[in-house]
Amino acid sequence: MTSRITPFAPRRVLVLGGTGEANALIDAIASIPEIEPILSLAGRTAMPKLPAIATRIGGFGGIEGLRAYLKAERIALVVDATHPYAAQMSGHTQAACTAVGLDCLRLARPGWTPREGDDWRRVENVAGAIAALGEAPQRVFLTHGRLELDRFAQAAQHFYLVRAIEPPEDFDKLPRAQLILARGPFGERDELALMQAARISRLVSKDSGGDATYGKIAAARALQVPVILLQRPASPAALAVGSVAEAVAWLRAHVTAP
Ligand code: NAP
Repeated sequence: MTSRITPFAPRRVLVLGGTGEANALIDAIASIPEIEPILSLAGRTAMPKLPAIATRIGGFGGIEGLRAYLKAERIALVVDATHPYAAQMSGHTQAACTAVGLDCLRLARPGWTPREGDDWRRVENVAGAIAALGEAPQRVFLTHGRLELDRFAQAAQHFYLVRAIEPPEDFDKLPRAQLILARGPFGERDELALMQAARISRLVSKDSGGDATYGKIAAARALQVPVILLQRPASPAALAVGSVAEAVAWLRAHVTAP
């Protein structure tokens, strides 16, 4: 008896990354023979942890650049696993995929759910966060990233403890501030010690979801520190899932469909 192996060309799947979810998805699909994953990173981090698959780094040059890339690289499917706050990239992805008729899935972890004892004040943007800090001087733990950092200079009565992976450009514009360079995950015990030592009275955070940066939210609850939570931008995605397992299932269904 002879066996016949049917040759097939794996489908090229572009994963737009920069998140733990993107890395986990890459790991999960690495052994699926019907898939050839390509990871795309914005290039914001000087030394990113790179998986052992094809990786491209840097912007595409807007919607038109991404559209041209998708065609030139014969991409069959796209998973937008960028950060929930990477609104521009998500918008470009949706528009470019629609233009070339490609199926695109948004993978974004769900935001956090408040628990008993949490004091959260949800705000739409940085202006809302500054307003929520109020007039009285506070000691503020700013963990929302480089987004419009300089605008906090207008509320100069507050002290700011800023944490970022790399030095933010606008840090020097804050008159009373301290910078901590660190990359998560950050555990609750360490966050509690840090916030206590710095006598933090307000926490400003994105609603990132997931475990990696939840420690500060739990620490704020324990210390009864109010949390000013920046709302997520609206997602333009037509199709979205919240877990890596769902994204894998979506990909499997596409690559095994006749
Ligand atoms: P953004 O404002 O939505 O994107 C700005 C531009 O950066 C995009 O238009 C695109 O340039 C380029 N870009 C973004 N993500 C890319 C990717 N994965 N591959 C290639 N180009 C990309 O995004 P952002 O907030 O600057 O975030 C940049 C990256 O950091 C994302 O990959 C995101 O997942 C990650 N990240 C963001 C946050 C956050 O809070 N925003 C937090 C953690 C990690 P072109 O227009 O030239 O294509």
